[in-house]
Parts: sequence; C-alpha cells; structure tokens
Amino acid sequence: MDFPEKKLGFGLMRLPKQDEKIVLEKTIEMVDEFLASGFTYFDTAYVYEGSEEMMRKAITERYPRDRFTAASKMAPWKLSSSFSALDMFNESLERTGLGYFDYYLIHNLQDTHLAQCEKYGCWDTVRKLKKEGKIRHIGFSFHGDPPLLRKLLEMYSEMEFVQLQVNYLDMDSPFVGAEENLRIAKEFGKPVIVMEPVKGGLLSSVSRDLLPEGVSGPDLALRFASSLDGVKVVLSGMSTLEQVKENIRTFSSDKPLSNDDMKAIEAIRKHYREGRMIQCTSCRYCTSGCPKHIDIPLVFRAVNDLRAIGEHGRPRNYYLDLVEAGRIGRASDCIKCRKCEAACPQHLPITDLLKECSAILDDGQKA
Ligand code: SF4
Ligand code: SF4
Repeated sequence: MDFPEKKLGFGLMRLPKQDEKIVLEKTIEMVDEFLASGFTYFDTAYVYEGSEEMMRKAITERYPRDRFTAASKMAPWKLSSSFSALDMFNESLERTGLGYFDYYLIHNLQDTHLAQCEKYGCWDTVRKLKKEGKIRHIGFSFHGDPPLLRKLLEMYSEMEFVQLQVNYLDMDSPFVGAEENLRIAKEFGKPVIVMEPVKGGLLSSVSRDLLPEGVSGPDLALRFASSLDGVKVVLSGMSTLEQVKENIRTFSSDKPLSNDDMKAIEAIRKHYREGRMIQCTSCRYCTSGCPKHIDIPLVFRAVNDLRAIGEHGRPRNYYLDLVEAGRIGRASDCIKCRKCEAACPQHLPITDLLKECSAILDDGQKA
C-alpha cells in the first residue's frame, strides 16, 4: 500500500485552543507551513473534539483533495443500538468534508473495546466502506499487549496497516510492548504508523543536560521513532507553529541517530525510571467520565514536572489555583470508581497514582 514520501504526520488532536475552542487562524498557519514544506499526512478521529470540523475548515475547504492524505478513526466505545458504526463514519465524513478517507482506522483497540467492536460490526463496516471506495486503506490503532496484536492480525488479515504507540521509553515497557508489537507487525507484513513518539510531550521536556549538544527532546524522540523498521508515518500532535517548524526541520534534515544520541536515550530512560515519572500521554480519555472532575493528566503533569524538572513552585501553584477557582476537582476527591482506569490506554493505576500525587500537591503549600 502507498504512504506519503515524507514520514512526518500532523496529528490534529492537540490543536491550539482559546477558551476551550480550537483557534482556526492559528491552525491554518500551521497547516500551511506543513503543506508548503512538502508534508501531506493528517490524522484526526471522531473523538478528538472539534478536530474533524477543523480539518474541513483548515484543509479540505482550502486545498485540492489530491494535495494531502487524511486519516480518521471510528471509536467503538461510543457506539450504541441507536448510533451505528456506519452513522459514526458518515458523521466523520460529513464533518471533514473529505468525500473519502485515504486511511480509516478502528480506534484504540484493546481488550476492553473488542466486544463493542464485534457487537456493532466495526470490522464488517470498514470492509464494506472500502469496497464502496469511501475508504482507501483500512487499519486499526492499538493499545493492547503483543498477544492481542497477534490475535487481531490473525483474525482480521485484511487490515492493511497498524497504528502503534512507539517511543524510546516504551520499547520494553511491560504495558506497551512497543518493540514486540513492531516485530509482530513486521512478521504479518503490516506497515506501521507511529503514535505518541514523544509520549504525549513527556519526551519534549527532557532536561537539557541529558541531551546531546544541538539536539532537542522532540528531535531525538522523532528521529528515534522514524528510524525503526517498518515505520511509514510518525504522528506528532502539534500545538504551535514553532513545533511545526521544529518538526519539519527534523524530518527535512534526515539526520541518522548518532552514538551520542543513543547514549543520551539510555541516560534518559534511566533517569525516567529512577525518577518514577508517571507515564501519562495526556490523551484525556479518562477525564470526561470522572464524577469528581479531576483533571487527571494535569495532576500527573504537575507531579512529573516537580520530579523531573525540579520546579518546586509553579506546577503546584497552577494546580491549586484551578482547584480553588472550582475549575477542577482535587486529586484527594477521588472516590475510586475506576471509570478513568477503564478508559486509560496506558493502563495506568490512576487511583493509586492520584493518592500519591495528592500527598505531593494537596498537602503542599503554595510557593
Ligand atoms: S476513580 Fe477517581 S479519578 Fe477516576 S473517575 Fe473515579 S473519581 Fe475520577
Ligand atoms: S491517565 Fe491515561 S487516559 Fe488519562 S490522560 Fe493519562 S494516559 Fe490518557
């Protein structure tokens, strides 16, 4: 199957926002820069709030359809007896205005979503839509373990590609198994689209003294993901024009990983393991169901910043300001209903982690 010549893909899940709304003008600037530099792959999803509409306004309505390639995703966990897989697909097609999808994926497959996928006929729907020409290539994005990936590729051999979480921290992670998943994809002859190459921004904020001279955190992480066998696209969820420009520089230079880069990767892995960093990717799948309105990724980010970057005032102040303004719940408000854990693609023990974070944030004083 065909993929764009240039590997950087624009993930439209973290677009710039103001007052909770995506800002069209800023998105347009980023999209224009990306396309003008010869990159063409855009990735959205039914569940990325406002993103499919933004794809229509910033891309579909402004560029000829053959100038770019577009992917979206079906969310099995949002389907019901009154909202079918076809309804969801048609809504995505209408929101994006694309006419057809170059790539269409079943989203976030893991043990907990498989039954929904079967029950609401996701596999049959995407097969049928491909036959009708409304999808060029079908695949799935995956957050399960390697045995499940093998099982899915055996059962659904017509899936043409897989989207996997791959970054240098997750290669040997027992929860993600990126290295093993890549090996299985290769064994089945499936090209790979990489998601979370900078682990939701975690690898962007690597301390400067752990990086080689002239190399930034995102640059190192993106070059690592791009260098792996079978990888055709590396998605980056960009939020600013500066990020777009920096990523374009990385992918345009085509600089291979050096010995110094590999040494730095080893040192960063060690640092993160010893620093007990919380491996949250800020996807926010956990937040909408929380009855206590706890901003789980924000809590984890604040604690990671305290641990890794060594800032002692700002992250805690920021969190406490929002709590005191009534905009988010306190970590200590958690009632352990575990709705968030069922939604977390990283399989994080969120309730235990919140208890730990609460001791750091809620019991601390503002600086
Ligand atoms: S377990 Fe706690 S954080 Fe998770 S959804 Fe329930 S109340 Fe919210
Ligand atoms: S805790 Fe899990 S679901 Fe929530 S934002 Fe982090 S990675 Fe995503």
